[in-house]
Amino acid sequence: MATKIPEAQNRLFKNTFICQKCQCKMKADPQKVLKGKVKCRKCKKAQFRVPKKK
Ligand SMILES: [Zn+2]
Repeated sequence: MATKIPEAQNRLFKNTFICQKCQCKMKADPQKVLKGKVKCRKCKKAQFRVPKKK
């Protein structure tokens, strides 16, 4: 891993959500998630959480 771009990683991280039902990762616009417009592909639920930082 030669190059790390913190801004890009942060952006990716912020746009990633995890379904609370089936734990699958979803990339989505945070604004849409907050408004409940994004649904999980697998279980069709709109309950998401942000991934925990390590
Ligand atoms: Zn799900």
